[in-house]
Amino acid sequence: MPRMANRVAPFGTTIFAEINTIARQHGAVNLGQGAPDFDGPPEVLRSAIEAVNAALNQYAPGIGLPMARAAVADHAQRFYGQRLDPESEVLITAGATEAMFAAILGLSDPDDEIIVFAPTYDSYVPNMRMAGVRPRYVYLDPPHWTFDPAALEAAFTPKTRAIIVNTPHNPTGKIYSPEELRLIAELCQRHDVTAITDEVYEHILYDDQRHTRLATLPGMADRTLTISSLGKTFSVTGWKIGWAVGAAPLVTAVNRAHQFITYSVATPLQAAGAEALRLPDAYYRGVQGDYQRRRDFLLTALRGAGFEAPTPQGGYFIIADWRGAAPSSVQDDVAFAQWLIREVGVACIPPSAFYEPAEKHRVAHLARFAVCKKDETLQAAAARLAKIRG
Ligand code: PMP
Ligand code: GLN
Repeated sequence: MPRMANRVAPFGTTIFAEINTIARQHGAVNLGQGAPDFDGPPEVLRSAIEAVNAALNQYAPGIGLPMARAAVADHAQRFYGQRLDPESEVLITAGATEAMFAAILGLSDPDDEIIVFAPTYDSYVPNMRMAGVRPRYVYLDPPHWTFDPAALEAAFTPKTRAIIVNTPHNPTGKIYSPEELRLIAELCQRHDVTAITDEVYEHILYDDQRHTRLATLPGMADRTLTISSLGKTFSVTGWKIGWAVGAAPLVTAVNRAHQFITYSVATPLQAAGAEALRLPDAYYRGVQGDYQRRRDFLLTALRGAGFEAPTPQGGYFIIADWRGAAPSSVQDDVAFAQWLIREVGVACIPPSAFYEPAEKHRVAHLARFAVCKKDETLQAAAARLAKIRG
């Protein structure tokens, strides 16, 4: 009989697919998976169609279309003053997800350790397990998602090869503070460790927050691989165009893995992505204004329904304490998500999905809601949430 490999047998299905299925069955307003229910900017969509019509339909170079690499390098210079050589320091990937897997494969060996902060975006640890690498956890503590500097220091061992930093953070909405980034940078240098950053929410910032690239801190340019993608900034999550940028030796290592995972990624979408990244500042400001409105609206709706929710600083999500909004029979975040779908008609993600089994209790009182939705969707969710109190 054919049987599943031991490597993947423990994985199960992702929480996003699971919640989408139950939400559909119950006709719930879906604030689960972090994917916009509105389209990307028309000029960006038009660029993709034009690229298809301009016969950009065969394999791109493995490292990416020259115009896409140039646009990624120019974007880094424009927003962060980060200088990158598009020939050797930029790699285009199938989204941030592939970039992360290729980074783990290209920059660590079996039995090495990689430090991650928990809650941990759901693909990182399965990526590590497939690579034979061990995760070392440092916990972010609710409600403000700070971490104990001593715990971070203690997580570095002689086996540590890398640390993954996701800022702005999914699912908490945390933006790592300058002091936190400085400590991470100092420890990476002291222990000769590579930083891998996931910055897919770099342009989803609230309340005049600023995004800082760890790679731009003193001493970090040569030891930081920065990962990001088009999906969030341009509301085209289905395009799966991402990138990994950094010093040439890091990018070369990541490309060694990438060339045998996907080889190269969707040519016309790379071309459209290049145009998207070059949109004027007004576009990027518009994104922030739109997200600020969505976040403020949903935050008010959740608080009005009895949730306690700290104000997220960036990203697609609000984490809310549901204990003031659910009957006492609801025991944990998974039960709460099910109750909310069935009884209220709104879908959220139980954040325990972002933890190892023994640590899920840390967020049993919380729920994750996506704000990346049309105003009508958020209004429909708010109307249903309002009934909880009623
Ligand atoms: N990293 C984080 C933190 C995310 O939240 C997401 C997706 N929602 C991704 C990576 C995936 O990015 P992509 O679609 O570009 O692979
Ligand atoms: N990153 C998205 C989220 O956190 C989901 C992406 C996925 O389904 N893999 O909701």
